[in-house]
Amino acid sequence: MTTELNGTFGNFGGTYLPEFLAEILGNLAEKYDELKVTEEFQNDLKELYKNYAGRPSLLYFAERLTNELGGAKIYLKREDLNHTGAHKINNVIGQGLVAKSLGSKKLIAETGAGQHGVATATIAAYLNLDCDIYMGARDIDAQKPNVYRMKALGANVIPVTAGQGTLKDAVDVALGAYAQDNVDSYYLLGSAVGPHPYPTMVRDFQKIIGEEIRAQILEKEGKLPKAIIACAGGGSNALGAFTAFIPDEQVELVAVEPAGLGADTAKHGLALGQGKPDTLHGFKTLVLQDEAGNIKESYSAASGLDYPGISPILSMLKENGRLTLGEATDKEAVDAFIALSHLEGIIPALESAHAVAYLFQDHQKYTNPEDIIVINLSGRGDKDVEYVFENLL
Ligand SMILES: *Cc1c(COP(=O)(O)O)cnc(C)c1O
Repeated sequence: MTTELNGTFGNFGGTYLPEFLAEILGNLAEKYDELKVTEEFQNDLKELYKNYAGRPSLLYFAERLTNELGGAKIYLKREDLNHTGAHKINNVIGQGLVAKSLGSKKLIAETGAGQHGVATATIAAYLNLDCDIYMGARDIDAQKPNVYRMKALGANVIPVTAGQGTLKDAVDVALGAYAQDNVDSYYLLGSAVGPHPYPTMVRDFQKIIGEEIRAQILEKEGKLPKAIIACAGGGSNALGAFTAFIPDEQVELVAVEPAGLGADTAKHGLALGQGKPDTLHGFKTLVLQDEAGNIKESYSAASGLDYPGISPILSMLKENGRLTLGEATDKEAVDAFIALSHLEGIIPALESAHAVAYLFQDHQKYTNPEDIIVINLSGRGDKDVEYVFENLL
């Protein structure tokens, strides 16, 4: 069911960029197609997943959470236990190896709250590459710990003062810098979004999550799960968890988007739930629009979910009827953040808490104790505790 021609996914994806940038990314797509089938590349990838990221991550039976909800057996896929504390390391390992194979000397990335910047700076240090992280000046002020992490790792953090001084402006400036210096540098994108070949590459590097879930659950339970639940910002951890199960129609794939202050307010990030087809950052997908048809800003207390678009691959899966759409508000996510911490001694990232919140709301759907539910716990919540206690409780 996956039509995948030149990075087109059904009615979505593709490349909508000025010619010179489209040409640079066309070359990258060709190189990646050659590289991904080589044994050396695949061996290097496996080696770093194992010995750098710490894979395979645990598939953990959440017994107290299961008893609390009183239905299906709930497992957590522990991406929070990876090096740097989230699934983002899988992607930067893969793209870092692509950059190294291309002979790049420098990684360029943009970051909002800093999580993707820290992951990129980490792999740059490991691979001995220079690293320029573009970050909105306002975000730099708001996210000091991540700025210091990136600096400790040897990255240059470059403030962007253009526009509002936030992520959107940082993307524009970072892309400009890459266009200037594309021979020696590599643009490392953080989610399964953007023009071809990024959605394909990021999906390929994250799909290890679902491949592991499949092997682990078959070993523990001897059958496939009833549902896999993941939060969706850009969509990379969701696609990572879902991809290995797309052909298994009996496995429900639930993408939980941030409902922010409420699905019926102007402040949310429900791109799959409420978006319209549009182009954004060089690709076509479902995008939040206002009544006049202009792209609308998204909102979520979880900065990793705060994006007005979504992966074109998830847009296609929705259109094909293969996705279940879920949503959780800031408040529901915070409640789930506290509940999981109390019940299991595991503090989830506020992003991941959206997936947990879905189950708290919709567990009546899964009452059969013979069934198995897997929640993809995309990251750990250390980064969020201060914000939750000072702003959200
Ligand atoms: C960045 C991030 C996300 C959102 O990104 P996706 O591409 O949608 O996965 C979710 N969870 C955590 C912990 C993150 O750091």
